[in-house]
Amino acid sequence: MPLFENQQIQIYNSLSGKKESFNPITKGSIGMYVCGPTVYSNVHLGNVRTFMSFDVIFRYLKHLGYKVRYVRNITDAGHLENDADVGEDRIAKKARIEEIEPMEVVQRYTVDFHNTLNTFNFLPPSIEPTATGHIIEQIELINTIIEKGFAYEVNGSVYFDVHKFNETHDYGKLSKRKLEDLIHNTRELEGQSDKKNPQDFALWKRAEPQHIMRWPSPWSDGFPGWHLECTAMSTKYLGEHFDIHGGGMDLKFPHHECEIAQNEAAKGQTPVNYWMHANMLIMNGKKMAKSTGNFILPNEIFSGDNANISKAFAPSVARFFMLQAHYRSILDFTNDGLLASEKGFYRLMDAVNLLEELKPSDTSTIDIDTWRQSCYDAMNDDFNSPILIANLFEAVKYINQIKEGDQTLTADDLSTLKTTVNSFTFDILGLENVTKNDSGTDKLSGAVEVLIKLRKEARANKDFALSDKIRDELVEVGIQLNDGKDGTTFSVN
Ligand code: AMP
Ligand code: ZN
Repeated sequence: MPLFENQQIQIYNSLSGKKESFNPITKGSIGMYVCGPTVYSNVHLGNVRTFMSFDVIFRYLKHLGYKVRYVRNITDAGHLENDADVGEDRIAKKARIEEIEPMEVVQRYTVDFHNTLNTFNFLPPSIEPTATGHIIEQIELINTIIEKGFAYEVNGSVYFDVHKFNETHDYGKLSKRKLEDLIHNTRELEGQSDKKNPQDFALWKRAEPQHIMRWPSPWSDGFPGWHLECTAMSTKYLGEHFDIHGGGMDLKFPHHECEIAQNEAAKGQTPVNYWMHANMLIMNGKKMAKSTGNFILPNEIFSGDNANISKAFAPSVARFFMLQAHYRSILDFTNDGLLASEKGFYRLMDAVNLLEELKPSDTSTIDIDTWRQSCYDAMNDDFNSPILIANLFEAVKYINQIKEGDQTLTADDLSTLKTTVNSFTFDILGLENVTKNDSGTDKLSGAVEVLIKLRKEARANKDFALSDKIRDELVEVGIQLNDGKDGTTFSVN
């Protein structure tokens, strides 16, 4: 019997604003869609946090025996600089600045995204579709929305008619906004004059002559609006009505609100049963974001090369740090927080490794079944990883007591303890079994930092033969040096 038969999950649904019992549409199977990255720059730790929250949810659902189809897209077109449909395409802009093809930008940062998530030990999603791979589906969807009377064409662009939609539907129900308030608060931005109302959003945009990312359509050579791709791809791979849709809190409005509107307009039904939103990683009191420069890159964590941290941290330590906060809480990134997590993480790993040495007894002095259920209860309660971690530390205490002979477990109970600790630590939280001495991360980054310094000196002395040799030989052993405006970082391939 699969575990889910005995474990009832509660999910906080952003749509209803409360925790609800989770029941999938099809018994035993789950469809989950999470908005992926816009691949125009390196992912920062804030992005990683949101994806990690859903990685753990994916892992737990699988652990319970559900068949999960997890779709996480790659946005490789259509995401403009400004959410109000103005400005340049983020990818095209990067391509212009770097004088490369947009698809080179996409390739570079998709690879970076995958490498980063691999380093943090993420499971790959079941399907990772791209916006540019689904232009035909998006055009079809626009046609349907026009046919249903909820979109209009102006000068080769197509806009969703939010006011018309709101006459029969509830635009704003996810983000708890009222159209009247939106009208009141919207500033007319330059370049929006094609729209009937500023609240309308683009489904298709006619490309200006200089815009290189363009596709033919019934309305113009142009490109799809950002919100559309997720509706097209979630429908294609999960159906018109599926179980879970996730993303960062900042996507609730307008992105997810618009997804709901598009779906309801085109298909006549609301697409998703449970909307889940992960909260933000902040640093120095502000949201971590590329646009403001207030961010830290994963590689900087592994090398220690960032002013906000005092040393390098292993990927599993950073992972542990992030999972010590509930996914719906704001998490403040601090050096002290990381140092405390590092201590806790290695204490947990030491105990996990000690577990193998424990000997069974004839009787048990600990109620292991109750403890085991409390681990499930934590995750069943809206995936509460910090409470789960507190339960794992309860197990650390037991392990040390058993080792000291202060408590005992029968062979069966010891086996339950081992299986449960291992499943939750490695399969569900996705941590990796490294100890302080064998991780090598600190030592490796220390050694590479020495080489980075030597290369810098060589360059200062105009000894380019030596500086190139250092870089090339590091590449040969799988270490890539990345020169940026704030110095050189490295990534391990
Ligand atoms: P983007 O590539 O900007 O679309 O962002 C990818 C994902 O990262 C989205 O789900 C965002 O909500 C999420 N995200 C962006 N900044 C942060 C942050 N500071 N903390 C947590 N998640 C974030
Ligand atoms: Zn999306």
